[in-house]
Amino acid sequence: MKERSDIFGFENTYAAELEGFYVPWRGASVPEPRIVHLNRALADELRLDADALLSDAGARVLAGFETADGTTPLAQAYAGHQFGNFVPQLGDGRALLLGELIDRNGVRRDLQLKGSGRTPFSRGGDGKATLGPVLREYLISEAMHALGVPTTRALAALTTGEQVRRQGLEPGAILARVASSHIRVGTFQFFAARGETARVRHLADYTIARHFPELGEADDCYLRMLRAVRDRQAALVAHWMSIGFVHGVMNTDNTTISGETLDYGPCAFMDGYDRGTVFSSIDHYGRYAYGNQPAIAQWNLARLAETLVPLIDPDDSDRAVSLLTTEVEAFRPVYLDHWLARMRAKLGLAIAEAGDLDLVNGLFGTLEGRDVDFTVFFRRLAAVARGDRAPVRALFQERTAIDAWLERWLARLGREGESAPSRADAMDRVNPVYIPRNHKVQEALDAAVDSDLEPFRRLLSVLERPFERRKGLEEFEARAPDGFGRYTTYCGT
Ligand code: AMP
Ligand code: MG
Repeated sequence: MKERSDIFGFENTYAAELEGFYVPWRGASVPEPRIVHLNRALADELRLDADALLSDAGARVLAGFETADGTTPLAQAYAGHQFGNFVPQLGDGRALLLGELIDRNGVRRDLQLKGSGRTPFSRGGDGKATLGPVLREYLISEAMHALGVPTTRALAALTTGEQVRRQGLEPGAILARVASSHIRVGTFQFFAARGETARVRHLADYTIARHFPELGEADDCYLRMLRAVRDRQAALVAHWMSIGFVHGVMNTDNTTISGETLDYGPCAFMDGYDRGTVFSSIDHYGRYAYGNQPAIAQWNLARLAETLVPLIDPDDSDRAVSLLTTEVEAFRPVYLDHWLARMRAKLGLAIAEAGDLDLVNGLFGTLEGRDVDFTVFFRRLAAVARGDRAPVRALFQERTAIDAWLERWLARLGREGESAPSRADAMDRVNPVYIPRNHKVQEALDAAVDSDLEPFRRLLSVLERPFERRKGLEEFEARAPDGFGRYTTYCGT
């Protein structure tokens, strides 16, 4: 494939085809844009020249205030339900879409900046981002990618040379992130709420062409688009649940159509298994708690479905609603299929048996309320398959229930075609050793804000190979020491 002559060589189909869905905009000028970390592997995947990106000119473009050849940066418009309340206008208040890149696999990807200054959508905000949260998104999104979860990616983290006011003054920063698009449920809601059906149709057509070209222009393509989004969201949330990930702010403006995880604000990984786990400082009622995520994803899908009513049948909205409702209601069984498949894999089960759901539910009944570390438990289960129950038993004070469950599971494992040790190897390929432990993330961010990037780089390198236990990395495996206390995360910091 031919390398491009300029650094970026952006394409701009969103700008060209979706007038009204954005405002052309430039980033704010900043005193000293500097790339503090570049994802060379991702740059290569995007056919970008990493050394050119690291030049002064590259940093100025990635800071958003100098445009590259062929760039039309823009702030995207969207609406959204935030914690269940509809806000008709949100939009990129501190982000800019620089343009689109075609990656080595021929896939169109957005390059977006977060923290590039105020836009017409900023409302009261300063349009800025700070180093801690930027590196947090970098770490967690890259960890998710390494875990195999569909997600936006981090291309680069920059400092701006500014001090930005938050609790106190913090180093200003920008994240350059990559997504297969930034079209959200909220993008559909923006014009749907204004009754502008032609625009919603236009967006749906663009979305189908970009994400679901196999749907073509058939009469029922919009219904099939909803079905496709449903299936991707169901698969995504099942994947989150299987690794103990809590997104924390599943508003409809943070719910992608592509099925990628978007917006790593208050997210965190659960330690002890507890369906009620919440980290976000503002989620007082646990709307976005770990165990609520599938139901919320379905709720968000219903909000997308509402925007499509006039597209499905302009003359008979009852019929349209009924067709859409059927697809939304199917979220639950589709989700359960994905979730059970993930859980089977975590338990080393390659074949499906009718009793598997009951076996899995039995396990969670045994874990509930016992503060057993979710990640450690599943990883240690492979030791049981290899003949050593002690590491798992050590996680429990009261062992009757887990002993009974282990017997049941081992009997089930015995009905697999392969030997238990080879099933254990398969388990090690899906049950991570390393996740972004909250105390380790915090440690890395605190050091970075203090000008020491080394802990960030080390943690990133650990998280890039989550399934492979390596010597000398024991500190990254364990849950937070008791003294770390309850972890609280924040939105929009
Ligand atoms: P988020 O919680 O990051 O998904 O953001 C929700 C909305 O608030 C989006 O419209 C953001 O663009 C906007 N927003 C968040 N932080 C800022 C900020 N510092 N300045 C301007 N807008 C912001
Ligand atoms: Mg957002």
